[in-house]
Amino acid sequence: MLGYFNHYFVTALSTRGFTREANVVLGVYLTQLTAFLLVSLKNPGIMTRSTEFNKVDSQQRYCQQCQVVQSSRDQHCEMCEVCIRGLDHHCIWTGKCIGQDNQYSFYAILVMTCLEMVLLIILALLVI
Ligand SMILES: [Zn+2]
Ligand SMILES: [Zn+2]
Repeated sequence: MLGYFNHYFVTALSTRGFTREANVVLGVYLTQLTAFLLVSLKNPGIMTRSTEFNKVDSQQRYCQQCQVVQSSRDQHCEMCEVCIRGLDHHCIWTGKCIGQDNQYSFYAILVMTCLEMVLLIILALLVI
């Protein structure tokens, strides 16, 4: 959807002589797309089988399904049916858990999407 708007804007800007602006929009979109691919392809931090409790961390829990010891930040994702290190949430847009190992790529998507929205609104006002 956002890709369609971007394509429309880049074409509209280029045909009206705003090539520099079109390149900026395209650059932001490609960065966002790269971050999206990174989130989708990276392992979010799937936990492997372990049974040892760390006596220092008193908030440890045990997941019966995965048979792993979770620290206070780890959680079991009901959709993926695995335990994820530092689980933030399960993202329906990427179809992946957002955990310890892919959270920065996810933040990059959020920042790029906000930047893109602002850019598109400003450019729409300039072009119209
Ligand atoms: Zn689990
Ligand atoms: Zn998940």
